[in-house]
Amino acid sequence: MREIKYIVIHCTGAIGNQLTDSIKKYWRDVKGWKSVGYHYLISIDGGYEQLSPIESPTNGVKGYNATSIHICYKGGSGGLDSRTEQQKETLEMLVKQMKAKFPKAEIKGHRDFPDVQKSCPSFDVSDWLKTIKL
Ligand SMILES: [Zn+2]
Repeated sequence: MREIKYIVIHCTGAIGNQLTDSIKKYWRDVKGWKSVGYHYLISIDGGYEQLSPIESPTNGVKGYNATSIHICYKGGSGGLDSRTEQQKETLEMLVKQMKAKFPKAEIKGHRDFPDVQKSCPSFDVSDWLKTIKL
């Protein structure tokens, strides 16, 4: 198993009901990525998909992917936190599951990394962690 230093939270930055296939197509055809952007992708109804095994790095944060797990919710367009209650619940469940598996890992938002000029995940992760007691 690779070393996991970060559990990173993202948003797609697009409309919340975007289909996963169109997101994957964007990564493949526009970005030219061989792997997906995130390990987990959470839909507005709270359902989620695992797009990649944890063992494999994905493309969430340039320069940090080798040691990161990436979790993303659909939405967050325009820097606005559009998470539904169901998405918040699923996000909490996944983050807690990953933290239990990798206790030393730090939980961060994408924008909390150095030199990131993005609003992703469109909410303050450290504030949110306090509300879920992490
Ligand atoms: Zn991101």
